[in-house]
Amino acid sequence: MSEFPAGTVWLVGAGPGDPDLLTRKAERLIRNASVIFYDALVGPGVLDLVPPGVRLVPVGKRSGRHSKDQASIDRLLVEAAQAGERVLRLKGGDPSIFGRSNEELEACRAAGITVAICPGVTAASAAAASLGLSLTLRGLARKLTFVTAHARAGEPLEIDWTSLADPEATLAVYMGKAAAREVSVNLRAAGLAPQTPVIVIENASLPSERHIATRLDLLEIVARSLGAGPALLLIGQAMQWHRSNRASASCEVPARTISD
Ligand code: SAH
Repeated sequence: MSEFPAGTVWLVGAGPGDPDLLTRKAERLIRNASVIFYDALVGPGVLDLVPPGVRLVPVGKRSGRHSKDQASIDRLLVEAAQAGERVLRLKGGDPSIFGRSNEELEACRAAGITVAICPGVTAASAAAASLGLSLTLRGLARKLTFVTAHARAGEPLEIDWTSLADPEATLAVYMGKAAAREVSVNLRAAGLAPQTPVIVIENASLPSERHIATRLDLLEIVARSLGAGPALLLIGQAMQWHRSNRASASCEVPARTISD
């Protein structure tokens, strides 16, 4: 297949979990791969689309439970491509957002291997869709910032809180559950109002999806009640919650909300 010759690598976005949010291109590439290295965040419904006979290799990393380090993953991709496989690297959401894609692209290029990216629906977009709201608001939320609140083990978060504490921005904090207290304290210290609306959403797009609408000063308490699934913190005026929001959302799972 010309799109996916033997000995090449595709970095493919698997979206937030719901297989219906996969692109048609991603689905086609999945059908044509010979080996798929996939992350822990790739939804089970997406993996169900993998045809029998395709080798499925988990290389998932969830915080605290590292199964493969990044250098080993880079090496696996290169070696599989050198062995003539059609290598698909399946990543949660969009591969270009907090996905360590750069290391994999560089490793492939350094080895002279053709590598390309197929985009995916990122968690923040899926969350907005489920919640039935917009991440930007004309005149009120003119800026959208994707930031990760994940620090290397034992190291403090190095974030420029002043630049993030913008009342006219929406902040999508990836990997922010463990740092919820720090996020809340530092954004308030940098001037963001305590009553700034926040929505925490876990397992966006999956049947187990759950969200909680709260405010910045209560974020820490709310984050403690979350389960083990991936969660996104959405902060800013655009997150003002109204009961009617969900009427337009496609997800029918009852959500637990407080203070709405
Ligand atoms: N490349 C991915 C992000 C990887 S970082 C993307 O574009 O979405 C992993 C973080 O993404 C998680 O810690 C969580 O903050 C967020 N995330 C991924 N999938 C999610 C989901 N289904 N619901 C909520 N947050 C999710």
